[in-house]
Amino acid sequence: MNDSTPRDTGRLHEYGLFIGGRDVPCARSMESLNPYTGRPWALVPDGEEADVDRAVAAARAAFDGGPWAEMTQSQRGALLRRLGDIIRRDAAELARIESTDNGKLYREMLGQWQYLPEYYYYFAGLADKLQGDTVPSDRPNFFIYTRREPLGVIAAITPWNSPVLLLTFKLAPGLAAGCTFVVKPSEHTSVSTLEFARRVKEAGFPDGVFNVVTGQGALGAALVKHPGVDKVAFTGATETGKVIAASAARNLTRVSLELGGKSPNIVFADADLDVAANGAIAGIFGATGQTCMAGSRLLVEESAHDALLEKIVERSKAIRLGDPMADDTEMGPVSNQPQMNKVLEYLEVAVQDGARIAYGGRQDPTLGGLFVQPTVLSGVTNDMRIAREEVFGPILSVIPFRDEAEAVTIANDTRFGLAAAVWTQNVHRAHRVAHKLRAGTVWINAYRVVSYATPFGGYKESGIGRENGIDSIREYTETKSVYVELSGRPRDPFKL
Ligand code: NAD
Repeated sequence: MNDSTPRDTGRLHEYGLFIGGRDVPCARSMESLNPYTGRPWALVPDGEEADVDRAVAAARAAFDGGPWAEMTQSQRGALLRRLGDIIRRDAAELARIESTDNGKLYREMLGQWQYLPEYYYYFAGLADKLQGDTVPSDRPNFFIYTRREPLGVIAAITPWNSPVLLLTFKLAPGLAAGCTFVVKPSEHTSVSTLEFARRVKEAGFPDGVFNVVTGQGALGAALVKHPGVDKVAFTGATETGKVIAASAARNLTRVSLELGGKSPNIVFADADLDVAANGAIAGIFGATGQTCMAGSRLLVEESAHDALLEKIVERSKAIRLGDPMADDTEMGPVSNQPQMNKVLEYLEVAVQDGARIAYGGRQDPTLGGLFVQPTVLSGVTNDMRIAREEVFGPILSVIPFRDEAEAVTIANDTRFGLAAAVWTQNVHRAHRVAHKLRAGTVWINAYRVVSYATPFGGYKESGIGRENGIDSIREYTETKSVYVELSGRPRDPFKL
């Protein structure tokens, strides 16, 4: 680690906004808290609307002319590869920053950062393969072709759970397509995006291609309604996504939305119950349950219910809570106080509605602060609020089912549709059920696996659009059709 890398040493690290390739001072600042120590460790700008105007102007100027606009697709690909190399070099430092800021396990964040370069290499490889088509003309004397042109200025708005990974889902294809960006990270976790901006500059991206404004949700709202923005790429809560979609609609600004979930993890009695129990734990207690794809509803076939519940409770009791930086910690704190309040409120609601606490159910008595026990609730029915609303915390609701048809009905009885899993050793049933689930990602005998090459996104209220995979680059382009007249003779001006 080099000496300039911010660490939680008790000293506050100060950041500016990142606009037009430079650190820009901001009139106001806000503290970023380390959720493990509860102490502020960094000061980040609390931007205002004028800062959004400046950042959009910088992104607009870089898009409309200058070195980025004139670059070939291959040259843009080369910059993306260089950025991937720099991330690989600095993965440990950047992972440490994110763990300090959001309390997720260092070993999880390190794995995430070590994987991040692959996104930039993959989309670097696609940058010079983005091409239009020639269109077989049904009109005599016409040659017709299409161009795939970059969409323009992208506003990327991200949440606190995996700030730069979720930005990368947007940035890697967007830069490969030739767009420019204004990023608004979560007010709880802005530091890694500001640090990342320095790496984007070091990689050689021209000034103005990548800009960061930090601040509260209102700053995101100002960005969404800005007429200089061509598309909003958002990851966050479903309710925020709806507000953004409505605001963007006023200018017909394009949107892609990656939102919340209430994902079913369906275990049939013929599954390997040890493996399924492990998958259920990974699905809900990984990252302290703070993932959009959390397997928060465990649907279990009645005959396997008691055996599986026992295995899950036993493993939950053994989960080691503690310092996110320590190698042997399995679950860190909840990321911030408002989120902790939400988790505790949902625990009360669940019990009031009749759920039974099979394990956990409260703030951790030893660690206190933002630590909540991994919680397993039994006796949950799918109409309870705990089964219908996203908690974004380590609370597993166990719901029994009688047969395959009922499992599918319960699984699909939700306004969300982000992810699901099926655990069975019957290959016919595995695929049959996977096809019936209304979710953007389905795992068979696995949970919580994503890949840069595979589309990710939600059905229903879990979102609009897909990120990752070969087609995602097209989400950052406009198609232009060009008609070329070949005869050179005047045509009848009044006939189509
Ligand atoms: P959030 O919606 O509260 O905030 C996300 C971002 O939006 C933040 O940067 C915030 O400042 C900004 N924002 C808030 N109000 C805004 C407004 N009116 N206009 C524009 N921007 C606004 O979400 P969060 O609490 O940071 O993150 C948790 C949520 O994110 C969960 O619901 C989770 O499911 C979801 N999430 C989804 C995915 C996915 O890929 N589907 C991944 C991770 C998290």
